[in-house]
Amino acid sequence: MLHFRVEGMSRRLSTPDVLELEQRSLTRNYNPLPVVAAKAKGAWVWDVEGKKYLDCLAAYSAVNFGHSNPTLIRAAKRQLGRVTLTSRAFHHDKLGLFAKELADLLSMDMVLPMNSGAEAVESAIKVARAWGYRVKGVQANKATIVVAKDNFHGRTISIVSFSSDESSRKDFGPFTPGFTQVDYGDIEALEKAITDNTVAVLLEPIQGEAGIITPPKGYLKAVRALTKKKNVLMIADEIQSGLGRTGATVQCQNEKVVPDMFILGKALGGGIVPVSAVVGKADVMGVLKPGQHGSTFGGNPLAAAVGLAVVRMLAKGDMQKRSERLGKHLHKRLKKLVGKGVLAVRGVGLWAGIDIDPKLATGREVCEALMAKGVLAKDTHGSTIRLAPPIVVSKKDLDWGIDQLENVLRELSAK
Ligand SMILES: *Cc1c(COP(=O)(O)O)cnc(C)c1O
Repeated sequence: MLHFRVEGMSRRLSTPDVLELEQRSLTRNYNPLPVVAAKAKGAWVWDVEGKKYLDCLAAYSAVNFGHSNPTLIRAAKRQLGRVTLTSRAFHHDKLGLFAKELADLLSMDMVLPMNSGAEAVESAIKVARAWGYRVKGVQANKATIVVAKDNFHGRTISIVSFSSDESSRKDFGPFTPGFTQVDYGDIEALEKAITDNTVAVLLEPIQGEAGIITPPKGYLKAVRALTKKKNVLMIADEIQSGLGRTGATVQCQNEKVVPDMFILGKALGGGIVPVSAVVGKADVMGVLKPGQHGSTFGGNPLAAAVGLAVVRMLAKGDMQKRSERLGKHLHKRLKKLVGKGVLAVRGVGLWAGIDIDPKLATGREVCEALMAKGVLAKDTHGSTIRLAPPIVVSKKDLDWGIDQLENVLRELSAK
């Protein structure tokens, strides 16, 4: 029996209460750390018991600009009092501005607004296929898209169809055809995989879920040159790498590469509402005609108002500079941990994948120990932990967080 009344909220739920409720009624498609957030501000999260944690995950980079960012909350509140949903059957006064300023931010022409990241990825795939048939002249239903092994692009059937992660795929078939996998970072393999039917190459500029895997120097540039030569679109999934995380507006800018389409999500909604988008050149995005694609909530007034505030924040450039500056400091300190329980550190900007020596502990065990010390981080692929604090984190708080990681590693080594 549950010993509290949920409906009347007769008392504040404790951590064990919430875990019990979830155990009983929530699908177990996640395995969260046992921390129950009740409040968050900037880079800090408070649990239901009032304990404070430094957020070093930032909701997988969806909270790049900090929890409860005052500028973004103000934009959302103002819009809540005006109009929140019209559907795309009518126009509203925020979407055009959002699209124009987002396209300008990335020196692109057109924006296709969606909600979740996976939806934006699906949308980019549809645009690429339609472009393949209508512009490139690929024979009907023959289009292929080349993707990288160990990719993460979301959870829909079509997207898991081209995942190489067994747990993402097992028992979810039959799968969508039309995708070819190659090793990430291998330009020769990519060249071999491209055929006359290839319409696009879809890549993460840095593979986030795979463990913050950065490709070899010059790889993205080579992909751009190759795709241009072969009349194939280059699609950059910047859902996690984009919007300030790597010290640039998008990671492609750090690599001086301009793809045909950017896919954005996560931080585009400022941690307030789901906002995603495909952003591209008119000759590609223009293939879509009325009735051929859509979303009831995509580009809704609340999403557009928050997205616009995010775009205007990024247009100033301060977030990117801050991420670059703090990122340098973060990586300088993390490098010193190599050999002290850490095998390798990767990443750019305020984004780090840290391979923990498996002899010492699993990534999960390190995250649990960090949580006990007041730092929230997430493991991936067994022994890697990732750090991606909100960009608004202060240098002092960031240093404190790294101190806690050092303490955890030292304590584990002493065992
Ligand atoms: C998170 C993520 C997605 C999926 O976004 P959702 O909003 O969870 O659907 C797609 N691509 C990348 C690179 C991501 O990190």
